[in-house]
This record gives sequence, structure tokens and C-alpha cells, in this order.
Amino acid sequence: MEVRILSRKFDIADAHLLEVAKQHGAYATLDKVFAMPPADVTDEVKNSGLRGRGGAGFPAGLKWSFLPKGVDKPVYLTVNSDESEPATFKDRYILTRDPHLLIEGIIICCYAIGCHDCYIYIRGEYTTQRKALQFAIDEAYAAGYLGEKVAGHDFKLDVTVHRGAGAYVCGEETALLESIEGRKGQPRSKPPFPAVAGLYGCPTIINNVQTIASLPFILANGAAAYKAYGTEKSPGTHLFGISGHVEKPGMYELPLGLPLLEVIEKMAGGVWRGRKLKAVIPGGSSTPVLTPEEAATATLDYESMAAHKTMFGSGGIVVLDETVDVVELTKNLIDFYHHESCGQCTPCREGLGWMLKIVKQLLRGEGTIADIELLRELCDNIEMKTVCVLSAACTMPVRSYLDKFRSEFVAYATDRPKPEQA
Ligand code: NAD
Repeated sequence: MEVRILSRKFDIADAHLLEVAKQHGAYATLDKVFAMPPADVTDEVKNSGLRGRGGAGFPAGLKWSFLPKGVDKPVYLTVNSDESEPATFKDRYILTRDPHLLIEGIIICCYAIGCHDCYIYIRGEYTTQRKALQFAIDEAYAAGYLGEKVAGHDFKLDVTVHRGAGAYVCGEETALLESIEGRKGQPRSKPPFPAVAGLYGCPTIINNVQTIASLPFILANGAAAYKAYGTEKSPGTHLFGISGHVEKPGMYELPLGLPLLEVIEKMAGGVWRGRKLKAVIPGGSSTPVLTPEEAATATLDYESMAAHKTMFGSGGIVVLDETVDVVELTKNLIDFYHHESCGQCTPCREGLGWMLKIVKQLLRGEGTIADIELLRELCDNIEMKTVCVLSAACTMPVRSYLDKFRSEFVAYATDRPKPEQA
């Protein structure tokens, strides 16, 4: 099932070092790319159908083409490396095992969009990853792949790594920009989208690490070669992190469109300890959960997930076995998003705290059926009434737990375990 495009060098010893990476083809596309007009590079990416791999799946080439023409301002590329979505651990592999793939992708993107200053925003907790990345950037500068004349071509490019400080919300693209600019990481209202007014008010493209790392293959082999993998509307490959109650949790690069349960079975060894499947979180904590019946018909692509009223997300698949207490899980989920709310919008700041209180009350055996209804009502009232989607990233999955596992919430509201047992 595996296809090694992004992960081609992951198992090669010392492939994070420039010398080894070059032996295995790193930076080999650059002469070809610099011989193309920048617009042709963008067209190749557009034709490949590459979609943003941060989670939203927005077409990458289309995003680049939103940059305003003829504006006398610098254009920035910001690589979103704030990988913080619970259950998502794909970009860290690229950062540590093949950082030169990312740098090569950055050069390709910057050439296409006319950017000479790129920022990589990396989450504060990624200490090892930051060191590996900075080491690779230093190597690339020393070898002339970054700096005044990229790979000997008449193109200047500087790359700066900016560390976050552990706030989930800074993965939201406009909070990320605020953070780079030295302010508190709070999302901005969109529009204007960053492509029009982003970093320091200038046109800015923000792409995820995996999106950028997909570019060398596309430019080396052509859009058609990339589209040979995946489905028509979800082409290419994706790094899937499979975790939770499986025999072989891990990172697997797969073409999009494969049946979800087959992937869990064949790649991750199926549900562990001979237990039964209870549910699957398809793409990180913010994606609505799938029951086993739903998971049985879902495939790993954007369209199938949307048809199943969930989202493809960031490739972080979590398998839940029959022992999982969905009410406890819901509490953990709300707790996380409540803690990470930046506090800017009242529905998110206050509403998530209210939801947390209710679910804790249920767990203590002090809740009622009316509390379950209130929880559901809060989900509906908080969602889409805020500047960013952080609160929706909580309410969407919570609603799915309430609707699909209602009996478990009802049990807490009616069985009334004594407080000391809860
Ligand atoms: P979004 O759909 O609002 O935007 C996606 C991208 O397209 C953005 O870069 C946006 O600027 C651009 N865009 C959309 N419409 C545009 C237009 N008309 N003109 C110009 N640009 C346009 O989604 P989002 O809020 O950026 O991201 C939500 C996703 O993030 C969720 O699906 C979630 O899975 C994911 N996520 C990932 C992580 C992680 O660690 N990887 C963490 C949290 C959330």
C-alpha cells in the first residue's frame, strides 16, 4: 500500500545531512525549475492538484495565484510548522529525517511566487526538530542553496526559523503571523486572506511543511506523475500517522483514496489485543468521529470524508477500542480546546469553559438529561460565531460524540454513580 515520495529518504541513515541527501537526489530539481518561467512552476503545481496538507485541503497552486499582481510590496512565504493538532505527527518526520526536502520545496515555491524572505514557524515543543532544521538551513547556506545566489542562479533567498511558544492557536495562519510580528498570537479576521495582506501587511503565502515538501517530486516528475497517485480530486500521497488502540502505531505514506479500515488493518495491524473497534477519529482531534459502520465505507480522501460528514484533516488517524469511555474522551477534548483558546472571542473563551463544567458534572454523576441537551445546544451556538475555527474544532467532534454515543452520556446522567466513583 505504501508509496514513498515524501518518505523516500526517511530510512536512509543520515539523510538529514546535506552530503547524504544530495547522494539521494536532493536539490536535483533546481536547475530545471530555474529554467522555467515562475508562472509555469505555479501552473505545474496547479495541474498536479496538490491540496494543502495542514488540514483544510485548499488547492496549493490556486492559493499562490491569489497573490495580487503589480503590488510594490515584498511577497513572503511562511511555512506552517506549528504541528499541534492532537494525533498529528507527520511534519516532524520531514523536519528531522529529510529537512533538505523541505528546503528544496521552499526554494521552488519562493521562485514561483517571487519571494526572497521565507519564515518557518515551528512549534516551541519541537526542540529536536528545530535543531535538525536549523542545521540543515546552515548547511544549505554554506553550500550556496540559500543566500545571495541560490544554487548559482540569479535568485536571492533567506530563510528564518521562528519558534513558537507552545500555543495551539498559533497554528492558525493569522495568529501565526501575529506571533512572528511579535504580538500575542490571536487570529485576525479573514478576509483579507494572507495572500492579499499577511505578514507585515504584505502578500503572504502560508503552506504546511508537507505541502511544500511535495513540490520537488511534482517539479521533477511533472503533474501527471503526481496525479497518478490518489483520486481525481484528492491526488498524490499523504503521510498518515496512525495511533491509538492498534497493534502497530506509526507513520505511513499512502496514496489518498484507500479504504480506511483496510489501512488500519494492513498497515497498523488492526485493533489491538483482539478487541472490538468502537470508533475512528479520521484526521486529528478536531475531525468528527466515525462509527465502525461509517468507517467501513470511508476512504482516505477529502471527498469521502466530507460525504461522511467529517473531515480529512491532518492525517492523524486515531483508533478507539471498545474500552474507551466516550464521556471521558469528550472531557479531555474540551479541556484541551478550552485551555488553548486565546480568549479573544466570548463564545470560545466562555462557552468552552461552560461545556467543560457540564461534562465534568456528568462524570461526577451530578448531571441530568437537560445538561446533555444544553451541551448540544452550546455546540450549535458557539460554532462559527468566532474569529477563527478553534472553537468549531472542539464543537464539531463533541457534537459527533453526543449524537453517535448518546447512550453513554445518558448513562452518566441516569445511573448516577456516587461522586467518589466518578
Ligand atoms: P481554511 O479553509 O479557512 O483555509 C485554508 C487555506 O486557504 C488558508 O491558507 C486560507 O488563507 C486559504 N484560503 C481560503 N479561502 C481563500 C480565498 N478566498 N482567498 C485566498 N486564500 C484563501 O482553513 P484553516 O482555518 O486555515 O485551517 C483549518 C484546518 O486546519 C482544519 O481542517 C484542521 O484540520 C487543520 N489544523 C491542522 C493543525 C495541524 O497541526 N496540522 C492544527 C489545527 C488545525
